[in-house]
Amino acid sequence: MIIILHPDASNSDPGYMKLMDYLAALRNIQIKTHEIAGVEQNLTEIYLIGDTSQLDMHQIENFEVVERVVRVSREYRVLGRHKDDHRASHFDYNGVRFGQDNLNVFAGLCAVDTREHVELMLRALRDAGQTCTRMGAYKPRTSPYSFQGHGAACLSYVFELAGKYGIKVIAMEITHDEQIREINQALELTGKPTGVMLQIGTRNTQNFELLKSAGRQKEFPVLLKRGFGITLEESLNAAEYLASEGNRNVVFCLRGMKTNYGEPHRNLVDFAHVPVVKQLTRMPVCIDPSHSVGLRSAGPDQILDIFQATAQGVVAGANMVLVDFHPHPASALVDGAQALRLDELRWYLEDVRIAREAYEARCRLAASNN
Ligand code: PEP
Ligand code: MN
Repeated sequence: MIIILHPDASNSDPGYMKLMDYLAALRNIQIKTHEIAGVEQNLTEIYLIGDTSQLDMHQIENFEVVERVVRVSREYRVLGRHKDDHRASHFDYNGVRFGQDNLNVFAGLCAVDTREHVELMLRALRDAGQTCTRMGAYKPRTSPYSFQGHGAACLSYVFELAGKYGIKVIAMEITHDEQIREINQALELTGKPTGVMLQIGTRNTQNFELLKSAGRQKEFPVLLKRGFGITLEESLNAAEYLASEGNRNVVFCLRGMKTNYGEPHRNLVDFAHVPVVKQLTRMPVCIDPSHSVGLRSAGPDQILDIFQATAQGVVAGANMVLVDFHPHPASALVDGAQALRLDELRWYLEDVRIAREAYEARCRLAASNN
């Protein structure tokens, strides 16, 4: 059960204390309070954990500080979409809105290799009107002998260049909680010219200690990749780990499932789950067509499979696209085979726009038939 207090209800209000005394007296019910600091107001939600079936919702609703009580109808208490649950399904970060009702494209380098490539990438994004990107500094690689990313050494120039080209949010994978501190420190040193969305990769979806660390901090939102070999439910529970620790600014990313049945693609594209995640949870849903498809093949219509997979996700209502580009894919140190070229950026963005327009037209059609 979730008790939602009136906005700006303070824990020094006598009404608040009255409610807490009442809840503390409930037997076998654990209480967990979540404070959500918003731009305009602060929200407090109180989670009652245990056998809540015997509790009287109306009695709780009668407390002055209580705005509403929601019965948890499914798992995923914090991020889930429950019956009669009208809590927001968006958040704002560094001036960018992440919601189930809009779309942001994060085109960029899979891995930062040279400063020059970072600058070419960011300039192309600025020229195409983009304010978000992806830049990998810490790369989890299958082979210990492969390039592992420049790590902390590249952060300051990546952030400075991002500021120079008007980038507001960079999706950046972390593999260890120490890297959150490194990112924070580099942002402080450079005067916070940009924002960072921490990315937790598919190899770490169930790295519970990493999830807890990323969940305990509220500075950065988190992009959680679906685990490539676990059920959707298991991956959604991983997202709930972040939220249960206090950070509910989470975007969930579909990136394809590891199975030979996806061949010749790198993974089996799973973007049919875009509406499923939106139905089960209030998280914005991202798609990663690059790591799903993994190669630059095209059909007889000359549309690259990566464009096709993107369109499939966007036409189904995806809210974010994470996609690999590179100024010289042949020289990329990571995932060059799936990187799109900078001269394809405008074409790609236009293709995304067409797919999004189709999705919006489909929503209007659905609304007029319901
Ligand atoms: C990535 O986005 O760079 C990446 C490594 O993705 P995934 O964790 O989905 O393999
Ligand atoms: Mn990659």
